Amino acid sequence: MTVNLLDFDLDGLAVLCERLGEKRFRAVQLFRWIHQKGAGQFNDMTDLAKSLREKLQNVACIRTMPVVSQHVSTDGTIKWLFDVGDGNAVETVFIPEDDRGTLCVSSQAGCAVGCRFCSTGHQGFSRNLTTGEIIGQLWFAEHFLRKHLQRDDRVISNVVMMGMGEPLQNYNSLIPALKVMLDDHGYGLSRRRVTVSTSGIVPMIDRLAHDCPVALAVSLHAPNDALRDTLVPLNLKYPLAQLVSACHRYLAFAPRDFITFEYCMLDGVNDTDACANQLVERVRAHAGAWCKFNLIPFNPFSGSGLLCSKPARVQAFAKILSEAGITTTIRKTRGEDIDAACGQLAGDVKDRTRVNVRIARQRGIPIQLVSASTTTIAGVDP
Ligand code: SAH
Ligand code: SF4
Repeated sequence: MTVNLLDFDLDGLAVLCERLGEKRFRAVQLFRWIHQKGAGQFNDMTDLAKSLREKLQNVACIRTMPVVSQHVSTDGTIKWLFDVGDGNAVETVFIPEDDRGTLCVSSQAGCAVGCRFCSTGHQGFSRNLTTGEIIGQLWFAEHFLRKHLQRDDRVISNVVMMGMGEPLQNYNSLIPALKVMLDDHGYGLSRRRVTVSTSGIVPMIDRLAHDCPVALAVSLHAPNDALRDTLVPLNLKYPLAQLVSACHRYLAFAPRDFITFEYCMLDGVNDTDACANQLVERVRAHAGAWCKFNLIPFNPFSGSGLLCSKPARVQAFAKILSEAGITTTIRKTRGEDIDAACGQLAGDVKDRTRVNVRIARQRGIPIQLVSASTTTIAGVDP
């Protein structure tokens, strides 16, 4: 049985090296080979002694999940589906923008929270991802994109834990993965550019503040408990007053001076003027301009029974918040044509028909049609 080195942050790797009779600086070298250079084979690590490479070969490997498919949107968004075994798959989405590249990473196969408007939630919970499976999404995407876009510098500048799953319900795997993202010998991302999004696990927000404070986004979706109970069942356990206070406490540790509240706009459910006014009151319970709102137009999926608010309604809602002095943005939907938008990630392995081969080729990303309904990345063995 070999250990997967993607499962370790630098401290964990140092412990492993010590157990192999090696000094800590070897762990740094190894870590840099893996995360900065994308090495997947010990033989490629030319400045490590041959004896160490042989030792590693016997006890360790660098392994990410097999890629089932790659879809490229007309807007350049790329979605990968990774096979995590036992019929489960998770999705990772790369969103290129002019000044940055954001990777949306999954933390669980499925999700136990079961929000009414989320297709991952409808699918139920399968299992937590390991640290190696979380960081493996970044390892794969960063080095795949560097190779295919022929870039030596960093392609992914931001990570958002907004893929499938509730990251704070997989805390023990999440923290080492965040540490690898932040480590200067790893991906060297700034804390401000790594965001954990949560549906509101109050005690875990406090733990995150102490263990690894990164940017925090909280999925609010309702201004009062009666409504939030019906949308985010976790609200029964951690009601809004507790959640908003936890967010406010987090500020003392946060790398940014605000918390982002996400609010999914649902037609006739949570999008009235009365809801917007109630939200304003809710955040004003804590003084100062301490939060921002990100309004997400609902991305429909079959069986949800919900509709997206009309654009004029979203604008009117945003206006009420803005006029009350709360910075509010309306999220642009990306990757909708490949089901890569928020809440559309269901790890569905059956419908793989919508792929834009032309766009992929234009962008220099080789994709290969292996059957009418499946795509795979050339050179990546699914
Ligand atoms: N579990 C975490 C992170 C993953 S969900 C959380 O809930 O925050 C990432 C974001 O997508 C959340 O804000 C979530 O509320 C939103 N989302 C889920 N389903 C959606 C849908 N169908 N349309 C728009 N946004 C959705
Ligand atoms: Fe889980 Fe987040 Fe979806 Fe809710 S919105 S079901 S917490 S992934």
